[in-house]
Amino acid sequence: SLVLGIETSCDETAAAVVLREPDGAGRILSSIVRTQWEQHRPFGGVVPEIAARAHVECLDLIVRDALREADAGLDDLTAVAATTGPGLIGGLIVGAITGKALALARGLPFIAVHHLEAHALTVGLTEGVRPPYLLLLVSGGHTQLLIVHGVGVYERLGTTIDDALGEAFDKTAKLLGLGLPGGPAVEKLAQRGDPRRFDLPRPMLGREEPHFSFAGLKTAVRRTAEKLTPLSEQDAADIAASFQAAVAASVADRCARAMELTVARLDPLAPRRFVVAGGVAANTQLRAALSELAAARGFSFHAPPVSLCGDNAAMIAWAGAERLAEGLTDQLDAKVRPRWPLDLNAAPAIGAGV
Ligand code: ATP
Ligand code: MG
Ligand code: FE
Repeated sequence: SLVLGIETSCDETAAAVVLREPDGAGRILSSIVRTQWEQHRPFGGVVPEIAARAHVECLDLIVRDALREADAGLDDLTAVAATTGPGLIGGLIVGAITGKALALARGLPFIAVHHLEAHALTVGLTEGVRPPYLLLLVSGGHTQLLIVHGVGVYERLGTTIDDALGEAFDKTAKLLGLGLPGGPAVEKLAQRGDPRRFDLPRPMLGREEPHFSFAGLKTAVRRTAEKLTPLSEQDAADIAASFQAAVAASVADRCARAMELTVARLDPLAPRRFVVAGGVAANTQLRAALSELAAARGFSFHAPPVSLCGDNAAMIAWAGAERLAEGLTDQLDAKVRPRWPLDLNAAPAIGAGV
């Protein structure tokens, strides 16, 4: 199938065309991402009204460019997929209406895509990794450990009890006077820092359930920075490095626990795979820590290429193609859902044991 994907749930306007072969292999024919950081920067964060207007202004041109780059016309498409949640309602409406209009105009199936499902399935497109696998989903708004049993079948093992990991990176960046988006800036600064200079808390270490917490770490970072103010460049770099080290240790500990639960849960003969996805999966140090953990625990390790960790429409088109292959399409009156848990449709039979 040849699927056009549209992503407008937050502050990236994106469109892509993806090809899915009958054997399940995927190929990206085009993927265009236009970020709105310039518009939001003066406000220090994403402003929903500005985001929605920016999506309206450029989405049709981005769709046109994605089709052009894929050398495809609307008549070549098999289906149109758009993110319908979770996310900011204004942007979701813009993307959903555009997708539905294109589908209606050409009599194509429309697929309402869950943004987190798209992050979760990206490795199927980029690495050919198919379920089942244990997934760490770390993004701007979410931090979850899930078993991906199949397309549409997600079992949540753990989640954050306060901040998302991407949020913690963004707040740390702000505190250190770095620009937005925060994650890449913290990572870059940390390269010149000493991760052992500050002994920051490693939240939730050793806890039974694989949940996360980053609020305490955030407070510790703030206290540390305040004590040293005015911060020298080396102070800031040392804080960034110490923060990243604490994050990697805490997240690896939580993933180790989830691996134990996964082994107990899956068929003993099933391959043990561990996947990390979402914007924060772009972080080199986190990838290294998790890949080391996976090797020690007998899991193979997989992550999308850095360029497809953050928001993009190739993952939306791919999730749409995967759903289409399962016969899952949506009506044109499908609603956008600003809040939408991913594990809502998990098969009830898989609940026992933990
Ligand atoms: P969600 O997917 O939960 O709806 P989102 O779509 O806004 O949220 P993503 O685009 O998936 O989030 O990820 C963005 C987040 O990833 C931001 O918080 C950003 O700071 C973080 N991030 C991006 N690159 C890195 C990096 N190299 N290191 C750490 N964090 C990063
Ligand atoms: Mg974003
Ligand atoms: Fe995202």
